[in-house]
Amino acid sequence: MTWREDVERDLIRNVGPRMELFVRGEGAYLWDGDGRRYLDFLAGIAVNSLGHAHPVFVEAISRQAATLSHVSNYFATPPQLELAATLKRLAGTGDHGRVYFANSGAEANEAAFKLARLHGLESGGAVVRPRILALSGAFHGRTMGTLALTGKPAMQEPFAPMTPGVEHIDSTVEALEAAMDDRVAAFFVEPIKGEAGVIDLPDGYLQAARELTSRHGALLVVDEIQTGAGRTGDWFGFQHAGIVPDAITVAKGIGGGFPIGALVTFGDASDLFYPGTHGSTFGGNALGAAVAVAVLGEIERAGLLENASERGQQIREAVATIGSPLVTGCTGRGLLIGVRLTAPLAGKVVAAAQERGLIVNAANDATVRIAPPLNIGDVEIDEFARLFADALASVSSLEVPA
Ligand SMILES: *Cc1c(COP(=O)(O)O)cnc(C)c1O
Repeated sequence: MTWREDVERDLIRNVGPRMELFVRGEGAYLWDGDGRRYLDFLAGIAVNSLGHAHPVFVEAISRQAATLSHVSNYFATPPQLELAATLKRLAGTGDHGRVYFANSGAEANEAAFKLARLHGLESGGAVVRPRILALSGAFHGRTMGTLALTGKPAMQEPFAPMTPGVEHIDSTVEALEAAMDDRVAAFFVEPIKGEAGVIDLPDGYLQAARELTSRHGALLVVDEIQTGAGRTGDWFGFQHAGIVPDAITVAKGIGGGFPIGALVTFGDASDLFYPGTHGSTFGGNALGAAVAVAVLGEIERAGLLENASERGQQIREAVATIGSPLVTGCTGRGLLIGVRLTAPLAGKVVAAAQERGLIVNAANDATVRIAPPLNIGDVEIDEFARLFADALASVSSLEVPA
């Protein structure tokens, strides 16, 4: 197969072999080079919020490309200001909130990392808060700064030494309480640990984290890169906990397939950066901003927060109805779902699903991640249930010979 040879020869080997070559997408469907259709229940890892080639996405990108694409951060553009106001409104920052634009999740977290460092300085410039806390197993990105935040030693090891100051703790309130003191600049946390395997936080965890960080004057930074843009049934995952963070980072779903990221600050954290402290050539580019405004607008107009909650519930029920002996239950919220398996067979289930024309992925050895577009309906869910049941049956028949 020639595209596989091209991959082998031409692409840097930073990831494993590509599973497919896709040439076209429409709604929740993808087509490979042979014209075979796949149901996409991964959405580019929670990115394609409206599915593929949605008319609103296509129209926004075409219109803005024909109007104004890029001017650099020496200048402002209307889409950029509209997106900043939209993100502030959806995140509920009130007037005292600000937005920094980046091009990806890692870059949004880089900005948050620098925000934490600035918060760690006293007015004379001395570092009074050298510590940053994050959770073991958390994923915050792969750049050299964010890799220090990512709590996965196997990812860090080849690239040591890491940016200093970051400590990883277990995901329990007791561990956070024990680690927290007045030398902590910030605590970084995902509302659901997506890359670790769609792992939920303990009940009340974010509320406790808010209380502990406030008590010690540390920033609470919520990484909403995977959980944001309506994916969990609210605009952002922290909103389910009813807390107000100091900053959130967003990317993935807000651009609906266009690369864009942002740091959104609340309250006094909005005044930490000052001219010259950070920047990005592409960040806040009018093209990306216009697309994100359109995508978020369509999520709102079409009631996709509610759809994410309801369809998420429907998928959980469909998975339970399959009654596979391989499945122990589901984690996550809304349309970010982890199907927990009894054994490390996620890779096999994902491969079996793909053979049947269903795209999902292995979030860890024993968890299949489901993250479809937010606008799916009965037709897609019925098809998913049928294909996923088949895939599970084929794997369990191999694993548990009758
Ligand atoms: C994907 C992800 C990132 C990194 O985003 P990139 O755009 O891949 O750099 C960071 N944090 C979380 C929670 C993510 O899911």
